[in-house]
Amino acid sequence: NEGLGSWPARRARKTPDAAALVHGGRTITYAGLLARVSGLAHGLRDLGVRHGDRVGYLGPNHPAFLETLFAAGTLGAVFVPLNTRLAGPEIAHQLADAGVSVLVHAPSHAGLVDGVRDRAPVREHVALDGPGPWAHGYEEVRARGAEAGAAPIDVPVSLDDPCMIMYTSGTTGAAKGATLTHGNVTWNAINVLIDHDLTAGEVALVSAPLFHTAGLNMLALPVLLKGGACVLVPAFDPAATLDLVAGHRVTFMFGVPTMFQRIAREPGWDAADLSSLRILTCGGAPVPPSLIETYQKRGLTFLQGYGMTEAAPGTLFLDAAHAESKAGSAGVPHFFSDVRVVAPDMTDVPPGETGEIVVRGPHVMRGYWGRPDATAAAFTDGWFRSGDAARLDEDGYAYIVDRIKDVIISGGENVYPAEVEHAILADPDVLECAVIGVPDETWGEVGRAVFVPRPGARLTGDAVLARLDGRLARYKIPRSAVAASELPRNASGKILKGRLREEYGEP
Ligand code: AMP
Ligand code: MG
Repeated sequence: NEGLGSWPARRARKTPDAAALVHGGRTITYAGLLARVSGLAHGLRDLGVRHGDRVGYLGPNHPAFLETLFAAGTLGAVFVPLNTRLAGPEIAHQLADAGVSVLVHAPSHAGLVDGVRDRAPVREHVALDGPGPWAHGYEEVRARGAEAGAAPIDVPVSLDDPCMIMYTSGTTGAAKGATLTHGNVTWNAINVLIDHDLTAGEVALVSAPLFHTAGLNMLALPVLLKGGACVLVPAFDPAATLDLVAGHRVTFMFGVPTMFQRIAREPGWDAADLSSLRILTCGGAPVPPSLIETYQKRGLTFLQGYGMTEAAPGTLFLDAAHAESKAGSAGVPHFFSDVRVVAPDMTDVPPGETGEIVVRGPHVMRGYWGRPDATAAAFTDGWFRSGDAARLDEDGYAYIVDRIKDVIISGGENVYPAEVEHAILADPDVLECAVIGVPDETWGEVGRAVFVPRPGARLTGDAVLARLDGRLARYKIPRSAVAASELPRNASGKILKGRLREEYGEP
């Protein structure tokens, strides 16, 4: 077995007594993880799971998530993590699309799973909190397997076999399953090890959801590959995060900007002991400069990353040495990754000019599950088309400008909403902001900012716009700005521009 299923055994051979997973006061060593994964693999095989079958997981961060992933990998089965924030019909779509035959679920989602049972292809249900009328108990399946399974399972699994199907958040259209091979996930983990200088002493705080590629592939799996420990947190809570960092002497955190923002707004922030933190990675969205400053005051530098589910996901990485000199950049490609910035005809655009960023490397998926059409559309000459607009500087550092389809064309000028949002977010009275295009008789389209003011701040739309004077070219400054109490977001926290356009897009 070349794949992830072999990791617990390989680790147990080297560091059996080191902590692998920490969860709710319980520590599982690498030897313990191997024993649990072997038992579960036998148990899943008894339930009929074979090479190539799909095994789903629906629930918050928990050791069972990783045990199921490794056990599926032991059998050559494909792991399908599901987003816990999805509604019934979305879950049913993904279960059917992936053809999940065995689904492990947490008690928090038993009702939802029960509600879609007749619409989903799932043959066997496994419940974390024990057996029920229509579900096996997780511990029972594992223990039965452990009894039966004296001989280790030896199913041939290659790096080219599918390892997991991750549904991309997609801000438009139905979710597609990015199929990542064992090789994709392994190469991504190696890229993270190299660029983050991970050690076996790492203690990672895994509060980002594991069902997202970032929490799983940028944080948990690279740390487990190297032999560090993962502290699994079921739900992100900013106050609890500060206690966990101090209590477990956490060295490595990964989050999206909003998570770090909420942590820094905690009353306990000033007094919190953050001295153990060594690696603080922020990705998934641009990092506002005010956030960088807030953490710098505590001696903490953000590493920044850019990636996408289809690339497993690490693609660009900005290291600490360049955090200041290349502020605003998402960095250069990971060691085993290549990017280009191209025009629609796939020719490279010169430095400084905006084009589409395309990616190639051993970490990039082969395709979407069961969607040859969508797969063909996503690649040109072997390069994955990110759909993101970016430019490179003279040193090859990439600046992500925006989603290409979100570009506003105003009087023939391209306005990238992300750039305008950055400028508006520099105002400490603004918590969140999104810019959309609205139809305009003269200009074709003009920008409109929708912003969430800081509680207590008396901030009018006109004041927000006035503060942009002289900071942005005139044509980039939105024509109007409206305050809102919140912005619509999808299950992974990305702002739903389509919904915003529906709500605020009238001329
Ligand atoms: P997902 O589809 O959920 O995998 O998210 C991938 C998308 O998130 C990318 O295509 C970008 O649009 C966005 N993204 C990820 N990292 C960054 C970043 N550092 N800066 C700006 N946008 C980002
Ligand atoms: Mg995407």
